[in-house]
Amino acid sequence: MGTRPKSSAADEGGPLRFTCDAMLGGLARWLRAAGYDAQFQYGIADGELVAGADASGRMILSSDGPLFERNVIKSGTVAALFIPRQLSKLDQLRFVVRELKLPLLPPRCMGCGGELGEVPKHTVTAEAPPLAFRNCDRFWRCKGCGKLLWRGTHWQKITSRLEQIGAELQSEEGNEDLGQEKGC
Ligand SMILES: [Zn+2]
Repeated sequence: MGTRPKSSAADEGGPLRFTCDAMLGGLARWLRAAGYDAQFQYGIADGELVAGADASGRMILSSDGPLFERNVIKSGTVAALFIPRQLSKLDQLRFVVRELKLPLLPPRCMGCGGELGEVPKHTVTAEAPPLAFRNCDRFWRCKGCGKLLWRGTHWQKITSRLEQIGAELQSEEGNEDLGQEKGC
């Protein structure tokens, strides 16, 4: 179901950028953690989603079957990937990473998708929670929303999940016809 993305889309102007349908907010957040610019808007209508993707050159990720019947998607004018329903957020991410052969990139802000820039520790003395300030030496600020981040346990959990997915994919290379995810 849906249209295979044009292979040239990935070669032009850097990594793929995405726009997720109204049901896939969790996937958008995980894609950002994996380093991808993934847009998401609560309650966005299909028409608006498609028009936005067309205008911005983003690939649509959606679990909405009827959306794939639209001519712009059928013709490949707008790239789109159908995300099977009833997958967990992490399995959705695994599916996308596998289908599009996405390498993991430096993480983006999971909240807004902004790029992260490292900031010197001495500049966050007043802002960082005392425990994080004591335990971490490196801090980053989101260039989009300004949120301060550090490699606490939450970050480490997310990173280890992502690395696990990356490792699974590497071990599958050369075995691309193995087919469906276990347990699906
Ligand atoms: Zn942000």
